[in-house]
Amino acid sequence: MIVERIWAANSLRNFHYLVACAETGEALIVDPLNAAQCLEAARAKGLEIRQVLNTHEHRDHTDGNAGVVAATGARVLAHANGASVIGGVDRGLARGDVIRIGRTVELEVLDTPGHTRSHVCLLAHGDAPALFCGDTLFNAGAGNCHNGGDPGLLYETFVNQLARLPDATRVYPGHEYMARNLAFTLDREPGNRDAAAALEAAKTREPAEARVTTMGEEKRVNAFLRLQNPEVIARLRERFPEIGEKPDARTVFVKLRELRNSW
Ligand SMILES: [Zn+2]
Ligand SMILES: [Zn+2]
Repeated sequence: MIVERIWAANSLRNFHYLVACAETGEALIVDPLNAAQCLEAARAKGLEIRQVLNTHEHRDHTDGNAGVVAATGARVLAHANGASVIGGVDRGLARGDVIRIGRTVELEVLDTPGHTRSHVCLLAHGDAPALFCGDTLFNAGAGNCHNGGDPGLLYETFVNQLARLPDATRVYPGHEYMARNLAFTLDREPGNRDAAAALEAAKTREPAEARVTTMGEEKRVNAFLRLQNPEVIARLRERFPEIGEKPDARTVFVKLRELRNSW
């Protein structure tokens, strides 16, 4: 499986991804925003875009659909419940569906509500598992729930699906927020040495060169995957004493998300 990450260089800090079959050169573009950029990246790599995949219905993940389709005739895939908002969707997706790219790539569709209620993540299995997670999981962070989302649903998605993926799973999110999110983790858990080291490393990298993390690393540096950590809980109680001495994981997640909204 070929994965080409394309930095959009915009204020929202979007990433697009070309996912392609190494044998046939057929490709799927994840979350096109800037169609010209996506088309140019495919051309430069000798890849042929045959499918467009929107992880969810927000415009910064769909605005490039029309341009890519006009140039390539690609089919558009998105969550079945988000299709009417996005428009022009050829294949509505549900949990467990399989997306095939060329001869060698298969992506499993995960139904991952929380950031919005109609959000899919794509999971590549095999020796080098990979997750294309849109605005659900970010490097060291979690998506917000401001525009059609629900933090309780996002918690369920994190705990019941994402946290159970193999540690080796590479994480390909929809935006580059690594340094900002690591700073949030350190604000919640000042003793987290892995997060401190990752932040130092992130500061010296251009966003286009941001490191690709794994789920194993995310479990060490992402506050939203460290819901049982005593320091995280103790610091949270200083801010929200009403959560009590032994808050459940869901409460910790929702309060972290609330805090991050104004942080
Ligand atoms: Zn979004
Ligand atoms: Zn987004």
